[in-house]
Amino acid sequence: MASELARDKKFKKAGGRLKVASERVGQIPPYLFAQIQKKKAAMVAAGIDVIDLGIGDPDLPTPEHIVRRLTEELADPKNFNYPEFAGCAEFREAVARFYGQQYGVELDPETEVLALIGSKEGIAHLVPALIDPGDTVLIPDPSYPVYRMAVLLANGEYAGMPLREENNFEPDFGAIPEKVLRRAKLMFLNYPGNPTAATVDPAFFERAVAFAKLHGIPVAHDSAYNRVTFDGYSAPSILQAEGAKSIAVEFGSFSKTYSMTGMRIGYAVGNRDMLKALAVLKSNTDTGQFTPVQKAAAYALEADQHCVSANNRIYGERLKAVADGLASVGIRTEPPRGSFFIWARVPEPFTSAAFTEEVLSKAGVIVTPGSAFGPAGEGYFRISVSVPTERLLEAVQRIRDTIRF
Ligand SMILES: *Cc1c(COP(=O)(O)O)cnc(C)c1O
Repeated sequence: MASELARDKKFKKAGGRLKVASERVGQIPPYLFAQIQKKKAAMVAAGIDVIDLGIGDPDLPTPEHIVRRLTEELADPKNFNYPEFAGCAEFREAVARFYGQQYGVELDPETEVLALIGSKEGIAHLVPALIDPGDTVLIPDPSYPVYRMAVLLANGEYAGMPLREENNFEPDFGAIPEKVLRRAKLMFLNYPGNPTAATVDPAFFERAVAFAKLHGIPVAHDSAYNRVTFDGYSAPSILQAEGAKSIAVEFGSFSKTYSMTGMRIGYAVGNRDMLKALAVLKSNTDTGQFTPVQKAAAYALEADQHCVSANNRIYGERLKAVADGLASVGIRTEPPRGSFFIWARVPEPFTSAAFTEEVLSKAGVIVTPGSAFGPAGEGYFRISVSVPTERLLEAVQRIRDTIRF
């Protein structure tokens, strides 16, 4: 009775609004793009034509044959039961075959392939599956924010591995302090990189895997842009490195390669113990992706791959157009060999945030501040080429006409 009264008092004191979020959730900073999107909404409402180069969601449609397969699978009532949560055999075998053909890596579809509800889901769940509270996770800086947030949500600590332009945006493994290495239970890598657009050669993964083995640190490689590549470059898999399967998993996604972001389908492959831990967590959290989506994704891998090269040609042209356009205003960048991002230095004397703010308010163009991806991203901005070339050129033109630097 007394405690009920105390609770009632507390509730009233809080103005009828209790603090409900856990400390874990409370420490998550506000969504990175929320502020920009709010400003965009206000500008659009005021009739301003805003060009949004902030989002990493492909504008190109999902190839027709994949959509067709999805609708065919919808006609089969069996597909409406609970899915096999680790992925249907068709999906896992298709991923294993893809690894054989693309990388010459042999995978056991039963134990070395796991279906995911988009790779983000698997990345976020891998962290609590492998680390305990207080453990350290090595994270590239700058990088995709999900790695960091997943660590915070698992009551872990992250240690940034700064990615410097002079090192091709590769981490300097030798610079990681011994004390950090001892506590590290996981390391993330991501090439072709978001946001840096950096690409690596197989020798990098050889070094990364050798380093990870020396210190006993499991590695998770995020290969979301593995097939968004240009000019004859083909991105390697970490699993091609000597002995990688003993210490590494690789995440893959259908979102970027096949413009399937909304379908939420991806995979994790590689080390079976890491996958098993992830599967235990997943089997008690979700029940897998809708079977028609898994089957459409399997079909995407097995069908004609012309759609991939056709889309890559478009992204490649857009990236070159943006790089040329930026050069004309004195911002020098090389078009990348992979990803659909331009990662460039902000002109002096701007900070990342100030430049982004100026470009939005004066030119009506949204670019993402590099600092949003980690402290080492300060001094850079990211452009996503998810709009047609003429819009990209107009964006550059507007920057040229309105910003003084
Ligand atoms: C888009 C993206 C993902 C997430 O892909 P989904 O499979 O759609 O969840 C993961 N990592 C990086 C670096 C990305 O850019």
